[in-house]
Amino acid sequence: MEKERVKCLIIGSGPAGYTAAIYTSRANLNPVLYEGMQPGGQLTTTSEIENFPGYPEGVGGFDIMDDMKNQALRFNADIRDGFVESVDFSVRPFNVVVEGVKEIEADTVIIATGASAKYLGLEDEKKYAGMGVSACATCDGFFYRKKTVAVVGGGDTACEEAVYLSGLAKEVYMIVRKDYLRASQVMQDRVMNKENIHVLFNTNTVGLFGENGVEGAHLVKFKGTPQEEKLDIAIDGFFLAIGHTPNTGFLNGQIQLDENGYIVTEGASTKTNIPGVFAAGDVADPHYRQAISAAGMGCRAAIDAERYLTDNNLK
Ligand code: NDP
Repeated sequence: MEKERVKCLIIGSGPAGYTAAIYTSRANLNPVLYEGMQPGGQLTTTSEIENFPGYPEGVGGFDIMDDMKNQALRFNADIRDGFVESVDFSVRPFNVVVEGVKEIEADTVIIATGASAKYLGLEDEKKYAGMGVSACATCDGFFYRKKTVAVVGGGDTACEEAVYLSGLAKEVYMIVRKDYLRASQVMQDRVMNKENIHVLFNTNTVGLFGENGVEGAHLVKFKGTPQEEKLDIAIDGFFLAIGHTPNTGFLNGQIQLDENGYIVTEGASTKTNIPGVFAAGDVADPHYRQAISAAGMGCRAAIDAERYLTDNNLK
């Protein structure tokens, strides 16, 4: 297999990965970045970003990622197509296999592979993608001012998103498959104290409808029981909040993860439990999950990697 030695390998091409590439290339670390399956990451599926500082008129999700990539290219970051298949962090330099055809020997690795929102798996979610279906209330909620929306899920994320949307939208439905909310008590209380949030317990979504975008959802209450009952609700937006899956499968258990599968980092740093391996963005952040916070963490990972190389005479 073809082998190549690099000082800094960045895995992933969302805001964290590209920001790490900008910083490490400006620090003359000659970073190599593999973009992965979805170049540009989750933002490329969002229509408009209005909360990333520096874009007073807003910016398209694809455009901002293209800007970040071009900024990294300007400083000669080596950005490549391809996904990392496996890693071996037990050897020095680290060994990373790209698509089974290339081995990279890296002194430092920055993992910025992000997380993927979970979907219900309905065909209609794909049909109305970007036309009323969203997995990020903070990103897209603004477009539903004074409208009616639904949030699917009963965990902390769903409650947080429903509360956030209740400040913008006219009415918010929460579609919860069980007869209780799994969220923490404080989040449940916040939901119950909002007059314009209506929690539909024991309810599943089976489809969406609408001419040129989402106009409603087909629901079933008490699915699979004698009390089963079909109902339709009129909504303009359908928000998934049934959890995220951090993209850590390729690590094969070599990095410490928390109970939800997110990479554990040390204190305020981006250090993982393996010295020389750093993590940034949604793959290591179950709480904020914003483009700007991921970019900030990418910056910190780059600085942590540079300091590690200096401290270990590898620069
Ligand atoms: P959770 O896994 O906690 O909750 C997921 C919710 O989605 C559950 O109500 C689950 O239902 C529901 N769900 C899952 N799959 C389906 C499906 N196919 N159809 C319908 N409903 C479904 O995920 P969260 O993203 O809410 O939270 C992840 C972690 O992050 C948690 O530990 C949470 O506490 C934490 N977090 C903390 C926050 C805070 O402290 N402010 C904010 C956000 C998250 P069911 O209950 O039936 O399984």
